[in-house]
Amino acid sequence: MFSLSEKGVKKFPNVAKMFDWLSMCTYCSNCGQFYEYGKERNFAAVNCPSGDYFKFSVYNGSRSRNTLLKGLLSGRISLDDEAAKILFSCTLCGACQQMCETDVKDWILYIEEAARADVQRNSVGVPEGIQTWSKHIPLEHNPYIEKHSERLNWIPKSIRSSLPKKAEYVYFVGCTASYRQKNIALATIELLRKLNVDFTIVQDEWCCGSPLLRTGQFDRAKETALHNINVIGKHGDKIITTCAGCYRSLEKDYKKESPEGYKDLFETSFDMPVIHTIEVLDKAVKKGEVTFREDPRWAHKRVTYHDSCHIGRHCGIYEQPRDVLRAMPIIFVEMERNRQWSFCCGAGGGIRGGMPEYSLETAMKRNQEAIGIKAEIMTSVCPFCYRNFSDAAKKWDMPLGVWDIIEIANETMIVDKR
Ligand code: SF4
Ligand code: SF4
Repeated sequence: MFSLSEKGVKKFPNVAKMFDWLSMCTYCSNCGQFYEYGKERNFAAVNCPSGDYFKFSVYNGSRSRNTLLKGLLSGRISLDDEAAKILFSCTLCGACQQMCETDVKDWILYIEEAARADVQRNSVGVPEGIQTWSKHIPLEHNPYIEKHSERLNWIPKSIRSSLPKKAEYVYFVGCTASYRQKNIALATIELLRKLNVDFTIVQDEWCCGSPLLRTGQFDRAKETALHNINVIGKHGDKIITTCAGCYRSLEKDYKKESPEGYKDLFETSFDMPVIHTIEVLDKAVKKGEVTFREDPRWAHKRVTYHDSCHIGRHCGIYEQPRDVLRAMPIIFVEMERNRQWSFCCGAGGGIRGGMPEYSLETAMKRNQEAIGIKAEIMTSVCPFCYRNFSDAAKKWDMPLGVWDIIEIANETMIVDKR
């Protein structure tokens, strides 16, 4: 039996507020792997990137972290670098949550983030990489140690001058597309223009706050969220993103009612509609306004799709990217771990910046899974997943092309709006 101790509550006040939910974990270990038995298929697979990398059960699934947190709250375990490393090594992919069948299910990721807020308060064992980019966000509003004044440098001058002050949509570019995957940001604005979408870009966009939220830095996250809510509201009525992480932040973190305990950490009042570019494209394809021509880079090649955790498991967008790919002259092939069973790319939860070797090795394993079904191309609708997959493919010289679906669509679409 675990019970709260004065020492534990003092060190972990935020997790203590969620203790009733934490107590619902029965240690059944369901969360330690994917499996499904039925007439349709029998399937069992690795689900937790952290357990898979560290090869030690205390890193595997939410059961292990729930147990650790109960130990910390009871005062029987002390917070040290190793305990902090276990708490920070979760990518927050939600694969364990998918498997859980008790009442802790909907709370698992909130509890993990609250635990990180408590570790941050105690200043013990926060990975150095996370500390570095975290200090930069309040100054330059991005985690890439880049200048805020250069955020929009990727936009061609001719397009920048033609962007209206106010439009129906604000394209929220996000930090990864602004500073690292400019190819995806450029493809997005070209595609939106071809589709005649009335959009603009906010000059003073800040980081959506996802890296801060996922690593338990709620005060900083709130500052950036409130800024974005204020500036976006002056320039548009709806938001388009091309980043799964930004989509999740804006659509879920900024908007949805948080549970008790977490509410004290982060809550904003925001109700603007948020849409991902793939949804805009999917609608146009289904209306018959867009078809795709053959291009030797992709035509008749075996193409698979990776469900980014932030847009898949966290927000339930699974079919639209697949429907767009099926409308293209490619051979669409599915990895065994797909949709809610997707295996994380390894970038999220602060892992890419905090534990880069583990992060890249996880992306490499996902690339291997794609190669295992003879895919020649890996696609996603997230610049952060794209970045991890393409960096891993380069590092291990893997025979796999990496593309965002928006890039392929932009290069091959034929628009007919008769
Ligand atoms: S988190 Fe859920 S699935 Fe995992 S051990 Fe606890 S109750 Fe079981
Ligand atoms: S959220 Fe993902 S990385 Fe974290 S414990 Fe669950 S399965 Fe493992």
